[in-house]
Amino acid sequence: MIDLRSDTVTLPSDKMRKAAYEAEVGDDVYGEDPSVNRLEEKAAEILGKEASLFVTSGTQGNQIAALTHCRPGQEIILEANAHIFLYEGAAISAFAGVQPRTIEGNRGAMDPREVEASIRAEDVHFPETGMICLENTHNKAGGAIVPIANMQDIYTVAQKHQIPVHLDGARLFNAAVASGRNVKDFAQYTDTIQFCLSKGLGAPVGSIIAGSSEFIHRARKWRKRLGGGLRQAGIIAAPGLLALQENINRLAEDHLHAKQLAEGLGQIEGLEVVNQVETNIVMIEITKETISTDVLIDNMKKHGVLAGGMGPNRIRFVTNLNISKKDIEDALSIIQKVL
Ligand SMILES: *Cc1c(COP(=O)(O)O)cnc(C)c1O
Repeated sequence: MIDLRSDTVTLPSDKMRKAAYEAEVGDDVYGEDPSVNRLEEKAAEILGKEASLFVTSGTQGNQIAALTHCRPGQEIILEANAHIFLYEGAAISAFAGVQPRTIEGNRGAMDPREVEASIRAEDVHFPETGMICLENTHNKAGGAIVPIANMQDIYTVAQKHQIPVHLDGARLFNAAVASGRNVKDFAQYTDTIQFCLSKGLGAPVGSIIAGSSEFIHRARKWRKRLGGGLRQAGIIAAPGLLALQENINRLAEDHLHAKQLAEGLGQIEGLEVVNQVETNIVMIEITKETISTDVLIDNMKKHGVLAGGMGPNRIRFVTNLNISKKDIEDALSIIQKVL
């Protein structure tokens, strides 16, 4: 199967399995797992933050950020198609007790003036604004890179109003690699960050949240409350560390494959690429009226290509470290054949 459904489907390499097998471990709730500690130090260093915390998933990392930054009854500002808003089961409301205030972005980037206008004034009727969330790359916008200048402008607004900024950077390394910038250049314009080890970086489990030492100290307690305090977690942290050491730069290959896929798909009659492909996500619209998304996805599957449906006439492809140039060529000829 050529699995282009997501960058989460990657399986751990032999080297990662070996790292897990050989990992030095201890009880991480006591802070005694050397492999977890190494991963957290390395992640903080790469991001240019004081400290970081290994969490079970991206969703858990984002929720810990909301719980740590906000109080119940507050409001958070985020983009209208943000993962935190669309795909986290309303956890910000269920757990942190905050309500979302959404702003429609342009390819995932919110207008800083709109962000400022959405910050609540002091009034007995109003909730307080507890946090501003950014997402980079922006998943629903097709892996769009939110420009550093946009992050800087929003961070300036946030600082003026003393509101913390959290970055849902599930794919932040994709943004950095694709724009040829250091990840710190993005990270400097946010107080806290969540990024996924288990997406394009190819680790089997986990995410990192990073920020000030004081933030991470409080976040650690929220992680424990949520049941995310793991014991000999070095078993899963060791492949995560390997992912940071070896898999960041190779994201460029995923991006190249995504561009090749987009180019090929664009040449197939009856399909149209609808996003500007900057990283590892390609979205297409089926313009041929005689075939539905479900039927095309089914036909592709029968011939060995997996992709994800996005409503009645859209399909999404995500390149990842299991995909080769040959897979892209094969996928294109299969799609052409079954359409
Ligand atoms: C995948 C993703 C998450 C959630 O990560 P999980 O590990 O699946 O919980 C959060 N934000 C964005 C933008 C994502 O793409």
